[in-house]
Amino acid sequence: MMKRIRIAECLQSEVPINECSIAGWVRTKRESKENIFIEINDGSCLANLQVVVGVGDSYFETAQRLHTGASVYIHGSLVASPAQGQKWELKPVVITVFGDADQSYPLQKKRHSFEFLREIAHLRPRTNTMGAIMRIRNQVSYAIHTFFQHKGFLYVHTPIITTSDCEGAGEMFQVTTLDLRNLPVVNGSIDYTQDFFGAKAALTVSGQLEGELLAMASGYIYTFGPTFRAENSNTTRHLSEFWMVEPEMAFATLQDDCSLAEEFLRFVFTWVLEKCKEDMQFFDERIKPGIIKNLELIVSSSFEIVTYTEAIEKLKQSRDSFEFPVHWGMDLQTEHERWLTEKYFKKPIIVIHYPKAIKAFYMKLNDDNNTVRAMDVLVPGVGEIIGGSEREDRYDVLIARMKEMELNPDDYWWYLDIRKFGSAPHAGFGLGFERAIQFITGMQNIRDVIPFPRTPGNARF
Ligand code: ATP
Ligand code: MN
Repeated sequence: MMKRIRIAECLQSEVPINECSIAGWVRTKRESKENIFIEINDGSCLANLQVVVGVGDSYFETAQRLHTGASVYIHGSLVASPAQGQKWELKPVVITVFGDADQSYPLQKKRHSFEFLREIAHLRPRTNTMGAIMRIRNQVSYAIHTFFQHKGFLYVHTPIITTSDCEGAGEMFQVTTLDLRNLPVVNGSIDYTQDFFGAKAALTVSGQLEGELLAMASGYIYTFGPTFRAENSNTTRHLSEFWMVEPEMAFATLQDDCSLAEEFLRFVFTWVLEKCKEDMQFFDERIKPGIIKNLELIVSSSFEIVTYTEAIEKLKQSRDSFEFPVHWGMDLQTEHERWLTEKYFKKPIIVIHYPKAIKAFYMKLNDDNNTVRAMDVLVPGVGEIIGGSEREDRYDVLIARMKEMELNPDDYWWYLDIRKFGSAPHAGFGLGFERAIQFITGMQNIRDVIPFPRTPGNARF
């Protein structure tokens, strides 16, 4: 490997550097009478390093021939820049061109729409926005692990392929090695005993069920992995493949779950504000003005906890009209979630105690027999980013709930066993990683906060 320093390091230098090598891609090139100015970016930070080549310098002609998009290795000295707005520039002694790019390079200087950039996702990582997203995804991942590690949670790995269809019936991507043109059939239906796993298998929609098994042994666990949902929702908040963080705590209740979610989000937001100053400034200036102030406010104020019933009352009393009429028992739609967080409370809220009919079978039934100990964290701009609950830990109640929801308890015998042997209150939640990135950056569309999005009709790149 060639010895070089990253541009982020160069730009933060306190002193000039006599011998300095960098490598990166040409963002722009501009010529004046005496000089050629080349802006180089290597992905280590948002800012480019300006390289100035003077007429008569040995690599002047090389510089002249360079195009936007070319990759270069430059050795020279880092000197104070006379230009405004930047501290340093590089005077080259050697310029090595690895690969030039021609005029057809799609990322010329002009601004491109996010829609267009999605069509060239292979080059999109070289844009300012995707570069910043990649650094923020990295820091948020680091913050997530740091938070849970400091609190003594074990990082565990739950399976990606599953033969239990959990809550996701109809939303699952099937996994099979059967010949689709020649399926084995018995009694009129497909014989999955002949499939690879001897049963119908699919990609997981959540690691929760197995996460619970592990929490009921290790105490505190979290997963951080990919999940897959074949829901046909072409929205700005849904991906077919996304990353989810799922902590689970044994000997914990809904209150503990809410506290953990709030502390967790605060920790992550604070981390990003501290570690990603330059990138956050970019999102504040170019994507969503005020996003930094907003995050700072959220970090310094507590979340509001409201019951579902209270939320419905507030919505009913509102003067605004909704596309979906409000009544007790309905699932909150995006418009309702946004009204609550953006118009009414003006901050993140945690909605608890939802009607049992609109939530999963595993959520703990309240004494009213009508609501469950669920909690959703809703944030302005995005809506739901966390969904969680205290889990039903009573064997009989869980069986009854499964039957009520037309699930076959036999399929969940192992999940039920945990309620038979040493059951205990436990709780957890799932954070959609990309929804969190959306909220932090203010990006409108979830497809622009993941490098290679998978959505209905699209799994390119
Ligand atoms: P929604 O109602 O928004 O579809 P959900 O109720 O299906 O969400 P959960 O099953 O509770 O969501 O999943 C936990 C978290 O995973 C959600 O709070 C959200 O942040 C995230 N999430 C769910 N579905 C998607 C998706 N298709 N793409 C990206 N993130 C998702
Ligand atoms: Mn969903």
